[in-house]
Amino acid sequence: MSDRILVTGGGGFLGSHLCERLLGDGHEVLCLDNFYTGRKQNIRHLMSSPRFEFIRHDVTFPIFLEVDRIYNLACPASPVHYQRNPVQTTKTSVHGAINMLGLAKRVGATILQSSTSEVYGDPAIHPQTEDYWGNVNPIGIRSCYDEGKRCAETLFFDYYREHNLPIKVIRIFNTYGPRMHPNDGRVVSNFVVQALRGEDITIFGEGTQTRSFCFVGDLIEGMVRMMGTDSTVTGPVNLGNPTESTIRELAEAVLELTGSTSKLVKRPLPADDPTRRRPDISKAKAVLDWEPRVSLREGLAATIEYFRKECAG
Ligand code: NAD
Ligand code: UDP
Repeated sequence: MSDRILVTGGGGFLGSHLCERLLGDGHEVLCLDNFYTGRKQNIRHLMSSPRFEFIRHDVTFPIFLEVDRIYNLACPASPVHYQRNPVQTTKTSVHGAINMLGLAKRVGATILQSSTSEVYGDPAIHPQTEDYWGNVNPIGIRSCYDEGKRCAETLFFDYYREHNLPIKVIRIFNTYGPRMHPNDGRVVSNFVVQALRGEDITIFGEGTQTRSFCFVGDLIEGMVRMMGTDSTVTGPVNLGNPTESTIRELAEAVLELTGSTSKLVKRPLPADDPTRRRPDISKAKAVLDWEPRVSLREGLAATIEYFRKECAG
């Protein structure tokens, strides 16, 4: 069945891939973005579709639209960008969630929240399961994002309990791939761009901290499956790739796959940088019959190819 679907943050990295996927599935897509971190070029190729519409809007202000489903992705995701204007980051998560939940309630739409592994903070249990409540600093430099996303989850579950609104909450773990901005600031795009330009690869701290990197195509598949579940499934559900790497291992893989002679250099570790992170995806496997298919090397190769063209052009 074809639906009218709103994607907030649709001009960003994940949002643009999601819009493309939903159009491919035959839906009508309303892509909403204020281009804080997104780019027109991410969605330019979708503009010619009669089923695609772009709306320039900031989710911290209410909007009235007729839609069947809402994917709420609007929020800067890179630490560099969400820390640039932290008050706006919290507003985007919290006011954005209130506005989008209000819209969903008014039109009876199912709404999915793109939450994050950051709700676990610097996790004291490993790997992270959905029933872990997290270890988050409420007053640190990452708090605008972490607490904003935690509050958004609270709002989603209160709308569910109080208004019986059909909600879906996914917790996304580090996802990378083509269409990340070259200046995004997150580790995969930083390392690939530095390697391709022959610049030093900036390892924060000792590089012993870990992350688990998921390729964008896998993530989008999980997201769409979650939206397709029946109304009893609310989540939260972790979506990510459980293969864990240290940041130094990631740098070495990027060097090898690009053939770059860049040097690894150490930079100070930012405050509150989580020490380790890996999703337990048992719930996603059971509920969505989902698990990632693309290995880190395959995903990095596709991302490197994208940035080769991006950096050349
Ligand atoms: P991104 O920065 O590329 O995309 C975010 C988009 O939201 C951008 O297009 C930006 O312009 C838009 N936006 C920001 N503030 C807005 C506002 N007030 N009104 C309207 N639009 C606004 O980042 P991404 O990686 O594509 O992340 C998308 C979503 O997924 C975010 O909510 C993020 O928190 C979540 N997420 C991503 C990851 C990841 O690893 N990529 C991990 C966890 C969670
Ligand atoms: N990082 C790094 N060099 C960079 C950018 C990031 O070593 O140029 C590290 C960062 O300190 C963190 C990890 O890579 O430990 C992942 O950072 P990212 O900003 O991608 O996302 P996070 O998972 O921290 O939100």
